[in-house]
Amino acid sequence: TLHKKNILKKMLEIIEPKYLNLLRLLGIYGAELNFPVYVVGGFVRDLLLGKKNYDIDIVIEGDGLKYAKYVSKYLRTTFVEHKEFHTGSLFFKDGFRIDIATARVEYYEKPADLPKVEISTIKKDLYRRDFSINAMAIKLNPEEFGVLFDFFGCQNDLENGIIRILYNLSFIEDPTRILRAIRFERRFNFKIEERTLELMKEAINNNYIEKVTGMRLREELEKILSEKNVIDSIIEMGELSIFDHLFWHSKYKKEKVERFKKILKFKKWFENKCNIKNKKIKDFHIFLYSYLACENGEAAIYATERYGLPKKFINNLNRLNIIIEKFKTLPFKWKNSDFYNILGDIDDELKIVISGFLTSKEMEEKYIKYLKAISNLELKITGKDIIKKGISGKKVGEILEYIKIKKLDGEIQDEKEFLERLVISNE
Ligand code: ATP
Repeated sequence: TLHKKNILKKMLEIIEPKYLNLLRLLGIYGAELNFPVYVVGGFVRDLLLGKKNYDIDIVIEGDGLKYAKYVSKYLRTTFVEHKEFHTGSLFFKDGFRIDIATARVEYYEKPADLPKVEISTIKKDLYRRDFSINAMAIKLNPEEFGVLFDFFGCQNDLENGIIRILYNLSFIEDPTRILRAIRFERRFNFKIEERTLELMKEAINNNYIEKVTGMRLREELEKILSEKNVIDSIIEMGELSIFDHLFWHSKYKKEKVERFKKILKFKKWFENKCNIKNKKIKDFHIFLYSYLACENGEAAIYATERYGLPKKFINNLNRLNIIIEKFKTLPFKWKNSDFYNILGDIDDELKIVISGFLTSKEMEEKYIKYLKAISNLELKITGKDIIKKGISGKKVGEILEYIKIKKLDGEIQDEKEFLERLVISNE
């Protein structure tokens, strides 16, 4: 049954005038074309939760593409059409975007029931959505501007903090919803409703995750990794055996979570202190390195192919495994040069992941010291200076490397002078 409720007051309270006026315009354009216009999904959910969210998803009962072109003309946006889906996106000059979709008009036998026709299409569109909390719409046409449409008891679920699918086949039809359920549950500290959880487990255990393309799974995983409560989500995914379905040939273990937690903490430190070039560090990569380290080669190959990882990924993973082995077996005093000799010139992502595999507190402290030293290291001589001394060939690089190591360990203050002495003693 449809619950309608005017929530204009709430909109005035939460939405900034600029956007509220934009929504009004979108409704007016709909009226001019005689199409009902709704804003739907996450925007509505967040508004009711009292949160700002300017991801505007519009659904039109009628010809969405015609509407989008019409709007685009007046708002002078760039219109990108996705014909096969009857959707399109409008891009403003500053990058702000509005997505527009079509709820296809359906014709009923009794044409006298016009209002029902109208309602049933937006209803169908909402029914196809992932969870009840995401399945509400607000009408934007002037005569009903700010009226909330709730067909499925969505407000109740939102108030009670419940993640609920709208029909039994939901997870089977789109198994990415399994990951989305966890993401929303953790983000809002909600609970997955009992029956929903049961069906979710069934879909997981019947290998429905495997039916989704790697690309789509990767997108959802990346979203989970970018949320605040990522560790809780990972634990839950592990307990539901989701990882065993995402990453074949490897096994979920609780200690993997502990390790990743440590690594994330370290990442924060690293980005502040060592990431001088401000390179973007991908959490997805960090997670995979950390999760697949010490697993066999098959696990790495599976993940690489399924999730479209660069070739570099397997090489780095192999390198990481070798480094971890060396950490275990060699009795080091842990001078900076010991780290340097084992690690060599590795990616920032690996530098971060390694923090999860250090075997003692002392080693952690020494590793931090090493990273500081290496990221601040600036040699005051180059190969040219060495060549000037009459040295050539392979020797140049070797000497440079030798000086670098000495400098790292604090055994050289003035490398120019050190080079002089080195050359003299060689002669
Ligand atoms: P976020 O706040 O993370 O952006 P969102 O709810 O806006 O969350 P989107 O992925 O942007 O999430 O999706 C927008 C809307 O589209 C959702 O609110 C939901 O109604 C619908 N939706 C998205 N993905 C699915 C899906 N896999 N199955 C069904 N409906 C979906």
